[in-house]
Amino acid sequence: MLSSNVLVLNRSYIPIHITSVRRAFCLMYQGLARVVDGQFETFDFESWSELSASVHDETVGLVGRMVRVPRVILLTAYDRIPRRVIRFSRLNVYLRDNNTCQYCGQKMNRSELNLDHVIPRMQGGKTLWDNVVACCFDCNRRKGGRRPEEASMHLIRHPVRPKWTPFIDFSMRQILYEEWRPFFNIVDFTYWNLELKPD
Ligand SMILES: [Zn+2]
Repeated sequence: MLSSNVLVLNRSYIPIHITSVRRAFCLMYQGLARVVDGQFETFDFESWSELSASVHDETVGLVGRMVRVPRVILLTAYDRIPRRVIRFSRLNVYLRDNNTCQYCGQKMNRSELNLDHVIPRMQGGKTLWDNVVACCFDCNRRKGGRRPEEASMHLIRHPVRPKWTPFIDFSMRQILYEEWRPFFNIVDFTYWNLELKPD
């Protein structure tokens, strides 16, 4: 188990390497890497080892308990590939908004979220970082084609272009674990990382 494979992403979520579980834990322990889960949330060694493992999870005995085996890690300080312009995509909007509906504040799975134009397109709102937010289906329906103030709804945070570069790339590498798929899978990638076109 300790010598099985872990996908390594650089700071920009680009797959750069494959390492062992043992090495992955070392990097995490030293604060050089974080685990990335299925919702693209990241965890340091401590927060990851505190997650409870279910019977379905692969685990390894560590720090006196059963810790889930990471399958994808992100190097926190490594960015050999030059910084790029932040891709304006569905995935990156959800990442920016922490998978949280920007009206009711509920954190959701990505499949339960939608993109909302704060100023509706019908009223001239543009598809840009500062006019698009993550929104749950209920709030989306409630808001309809109205501005927040017209629907008596409030944004929990005004949307802005993020400063980090959560760009995800893919290539045709062999997928050894399901957890790797979002970083390689063309269908998933295309949907989540498609450049949203400004009107
Ligand atoms: Zn909502």
